Amino acid sequence: MTESKLDQVSSMTEIDKRFAAVNQTMAQFNYQDHALVEALITAQQEYGYLSKELMTYIADKLSVPMSQVYGVATFYDKFSFDTPISTDCMVCTGPVCAVQGGEDLLAEVQRLPDGNGEKRVHHSPCLGLCDQAPAALVNRRAQVRLHVSDVPAMLRGAAHLPIINVSGEPRELTGLINVLGATDLAAHRARGSFSALEKALLEMTPEAVIEEIKNSGLAGRGGAGFPTGLKWEFTRKASGARKYVVCNFDESEPGTFKDRALMEGDPYRVLEGLVISGYATGADTGIVFIRDEYPAADEIIKTALDEMRQAGLLGEDIFGSGYAFEIQLRHNAGAYICGEETALFEAIEGKRGNPRHKPPYPTQSGLFGKPTAINNVETLAVVPSLVLNGGKWFRQWGSGKSIGLKLFCLSGHINQPGVVEAPFGLTIRELIERHAGGFDGKPQAILIGGAAGGFLHPDHFDTPLTHEALGKLDVPVGSGALMVFNQSVDMWQLLEGVAHFFVYEGCGQCTPCRVGTTQIHKFIQDFNHGTGSSEDMQRVIKLGQMIKESCVCGLGMTAANPFLTFLDNIETTLEA
Ligand code: SF4
Repeated sequence: MTESKLDQVSSMTEIDKRFAAVNQTMAQFNYQDHALVEALITAQQEYGYLSKELMTYIADKLSVPMSQVYGVATFYDKFSFDTPISTDCMVCTGPVCAVQGGEDLLAEVQRLPDGNGEKRVHHSPCLGLCDQAPAALVNRRAQVRLHVSDVPAMLRGAAHLPIINVSGEPRELTGLINVLGATDLAAHRARGSFSALEKALLEMTPEAVIEEIKNSGLAGRGGAGFPTGLKWEFTRKASGARKYVVCNFDESEPGTFKDRALMEGDPYRVLEGLVISGYATGADTGIVFIRDEYPAADEIIKTALDEMRQAGLLGEDIFGSGYAFEIQLRHNAGAYICGEETALFEAIEGKRGNPRHKPPYPTQSGLFGKPTAINNVETLAVVPSLVLNGGKWFRQWGSGKSIGLKLFCLSGHINQPGVVEAPFGLTIRELIERHAGGFDGKPQAILIGGAAGGFLHPDHFDTPLTHEALGKLDVPVGSGALMVFNQSVDMWQLLEGVAHFFVYEGCGQCTPCRVGTTQIHKFIQDFNHGTGSSEDMQRVIKLGQMIKESCVCGLGMTAANPFLTFLDNIETTLEA
């Protein structure tokens, strides 16, 4: 042991030694209060639960009141408080897993004794493994394509492990997924990784990079679809010496798993895009914010960042350009709402993930009150190609507001679920028949854009997948999720699950969302029990239209979408 490490240990108190892992996490953040969520995550993982002693220790070390520690800890799903957990089992009951055996799986896990101490069983609204449904996460190990007979093996961590399903012809983003080792930097560089960063830093001004992104027509791929170049320009022009760029890898929208495929298959492309975004906007720090349910991607990113540091692709003077940039990895502790950009900032700042009122927008006042450009994983993955090929190159695909190639997540009752990269403008039917092996059984409905998206009937399957065409039907492209349901599915039951998702995942701070989502869910529940009246339905439809216009954040604004589009497009076609 070196002298300094000996000094460190001797200066530690008994309690510091007992909670050494948590202490180490807080030390990485110089014991600043924004370390709170990270400290709690380490505590849960190391000790199996958050004891009062442990939370008091964290409060003391970070100089925050105990009420704050408790308030933050109870906001996030990850934490437990009563007894140490030996087996933490999270079963996916998202829309696709639910109709492919997820509910039966959950019941069987709850029924079987663990036999090895305290078992915590909870459901996840989506584990991002919809192409391999049904799925579960046992002690942070993902297992897929499960059957109730797999449960004993699953609890031992021995059932089927996930793979990355990329279907269709390999294109720009999906070309290297499944071809190279995810963290083999040398192999990736031999195929051209980081040549766009080198070009940007050595041959282009930040303004020229922004101009290419604007020329490309690239719009955010997370769901909101804001023009990426404009976002970067606003951030660059915002006053203030300190700026941030954030990669939103909190991919929690049910039915969505493209960002996981990208990060697990080709993390360097995304991280390269993040460094380029930092250079363009004038930021010196980037943060990757990852959802808790992606442990494999978490390890891959850590390794990729270490490799990049060793290769001089992070740190001081990258490519001898004089530009310095560092990337941190921060974690969600299990709250869907933290995918909303301002809730995400709150989480990184160590708080409950309550969305902020806008304005001010993040480009003016984002993370820690500084100008911040936050982009989705897929958006950043596109950036290196735009720098190398020029923005106009991207316009060869699509038109209008729907430019370029897009990743679509195909799941449910189709023959080859997976991620497909396709130009905007293919129809729903073309995408599924050409790239996903066609429909499995007679389709009854499709849910597009995630839980916050909209339902369409098979009569709409010749609709082009564009913002414009889907928008006419009140359905968003959203995250690019397409979940197909065949005639075996009880659609009202499915809708009840989707409505419950919004009740459970809302942060509760604004009344229209809190009351509206509860009322919609209650009506559907009543309907399924044969007690919902047509007057109730009219009242709830009005409520659904009202909450679209009166909520603070996107969750509330979109929560009624599946219900309203279901009534418009599906309900009248169902057999009595
Ligand atoms: Fe929270 Fe819902 Fe309001 Fe968003 S709309 S801030 S989730 S209560």
